[in-house]
Amino acid sequence: MSGTLKDILTRRIHAEGPITLADYMATCLLHPQHGYYATRDPFGHAGDFITAPEISQMFGELVGLALAQSWIDQGSPASFTLAEIGPGRGTLMADILRATQNVPGFRAAAKVYLIEASETLRAVQSETLKDKDANWIADVSQLPDAPLWLVANEFFDALPIRQFQRSENGWQERLVHVTASGTLGFGLAQETDFSDLADRLDDTKVGDVVETCGPAQGIVATIGARINEHCGAALVIDYGDWHSLGDTFQAIQSHQPSDPFDSPGLADLTAHVDFEALAQATPCAHSRVTPQGVFLERLGIVQRAQTLAAHLSGEMLENHASAFQRLTHSDEMGTLFKVMALYPHGANPPPGVGV
Ligand code: SAH
Repeated sequence: MSGTLKDILTRRIHAEGPITLADYMATCLLHPQHGYYATRDPFGHAGDFITAPEISQMFGELVGLALAQSWIDQGSPASFTLAEIGPGRGTLMADILRATQNVPGFRAAAKVYLIEASETLRAVQSETLKDKDANWIADVSQLPDAPLWLVANEFFDALPIRQFQRSENGWQERLVHVTASGTLGFGLAQETDFSDLADRLDDTKVGDVVETCGPAQGIVATIGARINEHCGAALVIDYGDWHSLGDTFQAIQSHQPSDPFDSPGLADLTAHVDFEALAQATPCAHSRVTPQGVFLERLGIVQRAQTLAAHLSGEMLENHASAFQRLTHSDEMGTLFKVMALYPHGANPPPGVGV
């Protein structure tokens, strides 16, 4: 039995009944043969979307120096884990390692770990990071018991969410079913009194949709426990808001929004990150949610951009200027993307974020 991912999902729903949105997202993104991240390298101008580290080296350089400053601020532990979760092509980690090579003691103390679910992307990352002595793991629970400095850029938005619609007397989960015409689409489950959503009764009305992301909460709980126990920090960078409300599930194919049920496995599926839910799930301290443009400006992107510009001319200079604009401007990634740091209670947060 094979066929496209749409055929596989349709057969499964006919056999077993409607599936959760989380199940649908996880299958579309990570199915071993047909999953979006399993079958392609979607990043960059030729792919479906372009992420901050692929736009300019400045992003990874500044993130790397922020992590290194935080390591110094917490007493420069002689051995620590330098980790990235959801590393894409490995570009961000490569830029972090290059930018920090002159920070005394940092590279010698760092053991590099990449947490990646896709075999295809692991292969791309090992090419980008060859000679860097990196280790790959599939899950944050496999991180060493050691101080941890970690970055996650556009990782949490790829994790599977569930959606619930407020009804008269409770909530109805939005499930993926097969419509009468044979396409995939949303249907509503029976009304239940979903106790996990009790805290959403105050800020919602009948008909409103709320989203939950169980895997994200589990991951920040594990990362926060390592940071609390051993010291360290994490920078979570993603699009989303402190408090999420409404349907933010979306599909992107060839840089354009598309119908998320049209071509399972062929489009990138994401949802906005609910930073408040992450903050509630982590046992360590957290910063305020800081817009990416403000974060990068506080870390010195203007000065770094000027230094790089001095060596460029013509089209290279124009591309550099537009990359700076894309990363920082409020009409581009500057406001939509947010940064939240996790750090030990009683310690200073990494530079760049507000408290
Ligand atoms: N951080 C990168 C790419 C972000 S895309 C950049 O900024 O360019 C999301 C990444 O998370 C991909 O590498 C994808 O394969 C990985 N990923 C998705 N779900 C995952 C999971 N459950 N565990 C580990 N990695 C996952």
